[in-house]
Amino acid sequence: MAENTAQSDPTRFDKPYNPREVEDRWYRHWIDRGYFSADENSTSPRRFSIVIPPPNITGSLHLGHALNNTLQDILVRWKRMQGFNTLWVPGTDHAGIATQNVIERQLKAEGTSREILGRAEFIKRVWQWREQSGRTIISQLKRLGASCDWKRERFTMDEGLSTAVRDVFVRLHQEGLIYRGERLINWCPRCGTALSDIEVEHEEVKGKMYFIKYPLADDPETFLTVATTRPETMLGDTAVAVHPEDPRYNKWIGRTVLLPLTSRRIPIVGDSILVDREFGTGAVKITPGHDFNDEKAGQRHHLPRISLLTGSGEMNPTSLEEVAKVEKSLRDELSGQKVHPAREKVVRHLETAGLLIKIEDHRHSIGKCYRCKTVIEPYLSPQWFVKINDPDPKKSLASPAIEAVRNGRIRFIPDGWKNNYFGWMEQIQDWCISRQIWWGHQIPAWYCRGTDIGQCRPECKDPIVALKTPGRCPHCGSADLVQDPDVLDTWFSSALWPFSTLGWPQKTKELAMFYPTSTLVTSFDIIFFWVARMIMMGLHFMKDVPFRDVYIHALVRDAEGQKMSKSKGNVIDPLEIMDKYGTDALRFTLASMASPGRDIKLSEERIEGYRNFANKIWNAARFILMNCPKGARVYLDSPLSDPMAISLADRWILSRLQRVIQSVNRQLEDYRFDEASRDLYQFLWHEFCDWYLELIKPTLYGTDAVAADRTRTVAVQAFEAVLRLLHPFMPFITEDLWQTFTHADSSIAVAPFPIANAPLINESIEQECESFQHVIEGIREMRGLHGIPFSKKLQAAIRLSNQAIERYLQNNHSTISALAGLSDLKIGRNVEPPVHALMGPLIFPGGQAGEIFIPLTPDTIDIAKEITKKEKRLKELAAQMEQEQKKLSNPDFTTKAPPEVFEKTKSRLQELRLEHEKLSEALKDLRGMTGGKS
Ligand SMILES: [Zn+2]
Ligand SMILES: [Zn+2]
Repeated sequence: MAENTAQSDPTRFDKPYNPREVEDRWYRHWIDRGYFSADENSTSPRRFSIVIPPPNITGSLHLGHALNNTLQDILVRWKRMQGFNTLWVPGTDHAGIATQNVIERQLKAEGTSREILGRAEFIKRVWQWREQSGRTIISQLKRLGASCDWKRERFTMDEGLSTAVRDVFVRLHQEGLIYRGERLINWCPRCGTALSDIEVEHEEVKGKMYFIKYPLADDPETFLTVATTRPETMLGDTAVAVHPEDPRYNKWIGRTVLLPLTSRRIPIVGDSILVDREFGTGAVKITPGHDFNDEKAGQRHHLPRISLLTGSGEMNPTSLEEVAKVEKSLRDELSGQKVHPAREKVVRHLETAGLLIKIEDHRHSIGKCYRCKTVIEPYLSPQWFVKINDPDPKKSLASPAIEAVRNGRIRFIPDGWKNNYFGWMEQIQDWCISRQIWWGHQIPAWYCRGTDIGQCRPECKDPIVALKTPGRCPHCGSADLVQDPDVLDTWFSSALWPFSTLGWPQKTKELAMFYPTSTLVTSFDIIFFWVARMIMMGLHFMKDVPFRDVYIHALVRDAEGQKMSKSKGNVIDPLEIMDKYGTDALRFTLASMASPGRDIKLSEERIEGYRNFANKIWNAARFILMNCPKGARVYLDSPLSDPMAISLADRWILSRLQRVIQSVNRQLEDYRFDEASRDLYQFLWHEFCDWYLELIKPTLYGTDAVAADRTRTVAVQAFEAVLRLLHPFMPFITEDLWQTFTHADSSIAVAPFPIANAPLINESIEQECESFQHVIEGIREMRGLHGIPFSKKLQAAIRLSNQAIERYLQNNHSTISALAGLSDLKIGRNVEPPVHALMGPLIFPGGQAGEIFIPLTPDTIDIAKEITKKEKRLKELAAQMEQEQKKLSNPDFTTKAPPEVFEKTKSRLQELRLEHEKLSEALKDLRGMTGGKS
């Protein structure tokens, strides 16, 4: 029950806010009451849905997840409070290669391997692991406060989603959009699997360029010079290309060369695409079995493809002998060798044969496996592909996906990301979807072996693609069928996530109600892996976009802007942060730093700052409750008095509250989580706590009971509204306090989100109130600068020229005196500056509006002592400034320091200068006053 002991415990406000005490309790309350459940039977047209980017089951919550899910939760809670029928579908991803790698490492540590276990046992083992530690991430999401509809939790390999995967595969195959072909693909020799183009990370490396002689077959004294970074692959060359318009070589087109170290003759062909006349030696080797560009050139000239490697990245003795026809002595040396030793051996043989001209240093790009960082081999093997860009526009998956973003049916936020999307989609290649691993959706294709009836027809070579395991071969009737051992790329199932999680291929109520989903919240690094593919699949199978808005957030880095990594030791664990500072502080930090297009530089100080914010809210609640002896609820339920009857401070806070309500709603519409949090923070900390609660004290403690009750009503109602406004950002503390204020048998999670009451906005009240706040701030600043404690009453005179401001200040004479600690205050255009006085500017948002004078009497401050103090501090400042300046003029520092550090130093110098300037002014004033007799 919500009515619990903690609330009725009168001493709980004696202590600071303790997140650990409340977070679990309120999360359970929300779950028990089913507040996060969407209603698939609702008739309301107002609905809002989000599918979670499913975290991998390998993982535990990191800051990227914390950010991603905090932002989703803010949207979901906001919409739910606005009365939308809200669905947030949670779930996890089986993460094929990543998970398989984790389990393989475990097996290795146990002294066994997946090969020893066998496929069935291995998969059983992965499922076991998922049942145990795969649940971690879900419990951590709950810890973060994620308001998902947990009874709809899905997993990419659960029964329903697996059905959807098979269904999609079979349909695309029937439409001719999935095919099997032997093509060059990216191969990770360590993982032993194909990878899609985007699973390859490119990296610049220092390498070598080898220049090799290719003698003409009928004139061995004449040769072409070919340059390559990978001499070991020359054994798989099937032609040499020259430019058809290059007068040096074009006469040789049609002749043959004797491929060095082999007994093969290969043709010289003319190719203007592959050969750049201006660059290199003028002749280029074509190795279609080991290079993507060469594969295309090979197709143009109908050249055979030779693959020299095995799947584990070793030189294959059979192809060296039978296809490449390599000389025996070299063949014996190469068999079973990895790429690098093979390269050295080939180079040595070329040298011995006098065919190596020279070796030069050369920087070039290589590809690495995104999972294990092994160098990728372009590798010839039979794989399954999705045809992305069928020439028939009706069958193209890419065209409608491009169109949907172009015509605004899908919106990227920030808008600039759509250009990255177009750039990639317009040159997209077919998608290699088969992976030679065990963990994943096994491809629903079977091959006939026809052996049991001793015959096999030519058609039996074609794979049988079917929803259900076929009993017999449809061509020859054989029951000896074997399923394709490969599994699908993990992103194949995630591409279906927005509709598979809602029950597709069944026609469910959920699909009808919540598809297309409203918003996708994700980070830019998976726009191609995931976002683009969801758009293509959604449009193809649902005939509609999968989501309307794609909000792209940044990455979370450390305070210096460095990527967090275990090896650098700069990883911040969100769980530790939540333990230490509370979940709300972490969430608020992430939201306040989520500026469009900017990476988040997270420091613990910042999180600590927002923990203090939580304490500030807690203390405000305590103050209000303490001043409502009859309980807050009485005031929550009473009608607000006529605005004219309530005090200036009350009218001011109500006006400011309406503005912050307007702004938070608007900022959230625009996905400006940072601006919304900034406004909330400013309002609650500075306006509500620092000013308003101070301003109402005289009324609360005064003798006019009616006035005090009016103010209580405003204070309680304004605070309660702020709690609701803040709830999506800080769900736990707001629920806890809201329950204390309302004793409702409900939850703030389903209370209405505030809507601004525009008539309460009052420009002139705001100006009046803010005028005297600036005066009080000005006097406080002067006290600070000269070390005058608040306990020392001062006289002050204010000279200004604006009549309206003068009236505002006169109206609030007593408030200014009370809050600035004054015994006497003069305000006016004709105020004469006292002879011995400290002078300070009266600063308004538009600039300086006047001067503040504080007459000096011997007992205000000890001038001599104050002068000595300031002189000492000025010296310190000068020394510090010199130090920073030295750093900045050191070329070593300016070129080598990370930009973050450089900027920090610059702004530090700026701060020191500012303080120095202010202090010098103040010192000048003081010296002037002593008249030289100090
Ligand atoms: Zn790998
Ligand atoms: Zn057959």
